[in-house]
Parts: sequence; structure tokens; C-alpha cells
Amino acid sequence: MVPLKVNRNYRFRLYPSRAQEMKLLGTLDSCRCLYNYFLGEWEGKDKIPSRYELQAKLPRLANENPHYANIHSKTRQYVLFQLYSNLKVLSRLKKNGRKVGRLRFKKYGRYKTFVYNQTGFKLIGNGNRYQKLYFFKIGEIPIRAHRKVEGKIKQVLVKRTPSGRWFAILSVETKSERLGTVGKAIGLDLNIENYLTDSNGKSIAHPHALLKLEKNLNREQRKLAKKKNGSKNRLKQKLKVARVHERVTNKRMDFLHKLSTRYISSYDLIAMEDLAVRKMMESSYNAKNTADSSWSTFIQMLSYKAEGAGRTLVKVDPKNTTQNCSKCGNHVYKQIWVRIHKCPACGLVMDRDHNAAINILNKALKEVGSVRPELTPVEMRPLLHLMGGASLVKEAGSSLQKT
Ligand SMILES: [Zn+2]
Repeated sequence: MVPLKVNRNYRFRLYPSRAQEMKLLGTLDSCRCLYNYFLGEWEGKDKIPSRYELQAKLPRLANENPHYANIHSKTRQYVLFQLYSNLKVLSRLKKNGRKVGRLRFKKYGRYKTFVYNQTGFKLIGNGNRYQKLYFFKIGEIPIRAHRKVEGKIKQVLVKRTPSGRWFAILSVETKSERLGTVGKAIGLDLNIENYLTDSNGKSIAHPHALLKLEKNLNREQRKLAKKKNGSKNRLKQKLKVARVHERVTNKRMDFLHKLSTRYISSYDLIAMEDLAVRKMMESSYNAKNTADSSWSTFIQMLSYKAEGAGRTLVKVDPKNTTQNCSKCGNHVYKQIWVRIHKCPACGLVMDRDHNAAINILNKALKEVGSVRPELTPVEMRPLLHLMGGASLVKEAGSSLQKT
């Protein structure tokens, strides 16, 4: 078997000095200006000029404008690349029937990332401990690196979070580690009582630490609402909310990474419900389920980890997975608050979600059927959020409202 090449991301926190931070902020703002400049080049033209047409203008622009000369040439090129890939995402959304507007000019402070592509960066340190990350035109920035980077670094994305922290996200190309088969399959039921219940009857609760943090976030947000507009205290509180928000996200991602890795490493086949179909069925009473977005992230993680490890992820039709009896197939209707499945036909008594997880597994096994599991393609959705897809939808949506 040819080893599959996969991309892995490493996220390291940066600790820039005051002077370095000014340079980072300067780079962000130069990128923003460049983005707006090129977006402006589209205006009033019947046909949007090609990326290469605009790229040819870059050297002259940098010559005339010290603002642009101060950033790495690859970073400048990447701004253009980003602009055109944003356009691509928009047209793909449009094709899928979403309402989309136009790309907008970025105001000061609204540009949050820049990229060093292929060249202009270097990890500095010995062995698996890196002390610094060097950026051409910026310098050597101290980092906290807790993992050894394996493979070739293709790209470094520098990001400023709303609370003012800096991170470097390293995209690394590496050979995937195909895991040996273990001859086991499992069904997962995403439910309301727990984060999920699997077909072995094991339930994974929402982590307590995360629940506590989320409560904390709500409290800080309420405080923010009470602060006077434009006041110094409001600004301070805004920063505080952003920090708690980041902590919640980190903790949730950590939880989801560990959970998805655990299932991927222990099972050849993982079955779950098709969340998109389920959302349509449930929209009447469950539209605002807060777990929704985290489940989508979880499924995306399972998807790409399954692909890398050579595992199979099967998404089944959620119809009747809760109601049917997993032992005899009898339809046993239950309201949402009924936690126990009791089958009058065969006498099976079982936790409602455990019963559902077994049904999900059985449906998947039937679907895979005689096909060898290792030949079943893993459904991959494009990871739109990595390219800023979600924020683009927001952006396009809000500009629609204005026009
Ligand atoms: Zn039964």
C-alpha cells in the first residue's frame, strides 16, 4: 500500500517582545491594506481579473510603498491567494443554494491572520524542544512548543486572537500512520443526556470542567451587557470575555481530540447518525441544541482521522434509531423524556441511548454489507472552517442585509 500523505497542524503560542508585536501588528495591517487594494481592483470591471494578472503588480507595488516592502514577499502573495479562495468558497456556497452577498473591504482590526508560505520561517531549538520561531522581516519569536514536529513544514499561519494572544499554526505534511485492523466496530449515539453513548453501553458525559467554564462565560457576558458603551470598563470586560471564550474553545477541542482519537484507535468501523438528516427531522423542537456545533466538529475530526488511519466512518439514516428495538426490531414509541427502552414484544429493557447506539451500528453493518470495510470510502466534507468559510457566510449575510 502506498503511504498516504496527510496534513497535520501544530499550534504553538508565540511570546513576542514589544518591538516584535509592533512588527506583527504592522504585518497584519499591511496585509489588510493589500487585501482591500486588490478587492478594489475588481470594482467596475465586467470580468474579475485573474490572480496572476494582479500578482504581476506586486513587485512594483512593494517598490513604491514601504508599507508593503516591509512584509515577506510570500506573505504578500498569500493575501491574493486568500482573496481568490474566499471568492471560490462564496461561489461554492452559492452553487449549493445558500444566499451569499459580496466580499467586503476589511476595516482596521478585522484582518486577523497572515501566512508564511514555504519560505521565510524556521524552528529554532535542539531536539524536540523548540525555543524560537524565526520569521523573515520580523525576527526570532520565543514560543512554547510542547510537541515534536514530524514531517516537512509547508506553511505557517500567524494568528492574533481577540484577547490579543499570538499563535503560530504550522501545516506539516507527513506520512499517515495506517493502523492495523482490530476487527471491531462500534455505533455512537449523540444524545441530550450525555455527550454520546456507544453501542457497548458506555456513556461519555460532557466534561465537568467545560460545563463550569461555559457557565463562567455566560456570567462574564452578562456583565459585559451592563457596561456603558464606549467606556474603559467595557473594553476591559470585552477582553475578559474573549479570554474565557478562548479557554472554552481550547478545552472543548482538547476533549473532542481525545475522544475521537480513542474511538479511531480502537475500532475499524465507526457508525453514527447523519447529523444533517437528523437536524431536518428535529428542527421543530431541537433547533437550538447547543451541542450541535461541537458534534459537527467531532464528526469532522472523526472523518479526517479515519481517512488518515484507514478506518471507516459510516453515517446512517437516523430514522427510527431511537424508537426501534435493537433486539427484535419492534417499533416502541417513546417521548423524548422517556430514558428507558422497554420492549413489550421481546422484553428487552435497556437505556434509551444505548439501544439507539446498537441500532446505529446494525444499520451501518447492513449498509456496508458484503463490501469489504476497507474499500468503503470515508465521506469527507471540505473543512470550510479552516478556510474561514463560516465567517464568510456571516460576512456575506450581513452585507446582504445592508443592501
Ligand atoms: Zn424487542
